[in-house]
Amino acid sequence: MIVIAIANQKGGVGKTTSAINTATAMAASGWRTLLIDLDPQGNASTGVGVAASERDVSSYDLLVDDAPIEDCTIRSAIPGLDLIPATVDLSGAEIELVNVDERTQRLKKVLADHAGHDVCFIDCPPSLGLLTLNALCAADTLLVPLQCEFFALEGLSQLLHTVEQVQQRFNPDLGIIGIALTMFDRRNRLTDQVADDVRECLGDLVFESVIPRNVRLSEAPSHGLPALVYDHSCAGSRAYMALARELIGRLPERRKAA
Ligand code: ADP
Ligand code: MG
Repeated sequence: MIVIAIANQKGGVGKTTSAINTATAMAASGWRTLLIDLDPQGNASTGVGVAASERDVSSYDLLVDDAPIEDCTIRSAIPGLDLIPATVDLSGAEIELVNVDERTQRLKKVLADHAGHDVCFIDCPPSLGLLTLNALCAADTLLVPLQCEFFALEGLSQLLHTVEQVQQRFNPDLGIIGIALTMFDRRNRLTDQVADDVRECLGDLVFESVIPRNVRLSEAPSHGLPALVYDHSCAGSRAYMALARELIGRLPERRKAA
């Protein structure tokens, strides 16, 4: 299983939207896909149609209570897409795990040797705390959504610094599969400028597919559906399908491996 963490310590940059829709696109392409909601806000869970009242199991059980992964996984309504939902309990995990041995390795341990899925996306919370750290330690690679706004590069350098530290201390093989520009607005010259700067700085690391600002993407979660299901032909859905294709092209040929 290839584990992809979707992280950026800034909130509202499109992490959850990217997690939901890339996971849906991969599932639609025949990948047995697992989405782990690691944000106590649980927006990824809601976004694939699993309401808070339906979350009998969660990523908290996995992380704090050592529950087996199979016991925490539920089927979503989308064929091929399974979910480990998040509940508000998860907000306590950062503190509950402080005195636990190897607290950064908990997610890695439960995901190791899991053969039930080909790919796993982890939707990280907007911080660089213990939850995100667990995701970065468990991940093969990182997908970074970057909102085209002023200061985007400053936030990114902080994230890249954390990635370097994780590589040095915990997970030397952690890669960055790519940076996805999100909420791009062609009419806004600033977002255009930021996109150019980011590409100049980071080159091929930036995915060619750019996610436009698109109202269908923001409406879809209130219907409990990925945008790709809610309106598969809107500009946002098409952009996420293109992004998933690019992502698949960058992944190593490991999909059938344990
Ligand atoms: P994060 O997980 O990084 O906090 P979200 O994916 O939850 O970010 O996005 C923040 C808000 O912006 C949500 O209300 C979401 O629906 C909306 N949103 C995300 N991407 C887009 C987009 N490309 N166009 C329009 N709205 C978007
Ligand atoms: Mg989110």
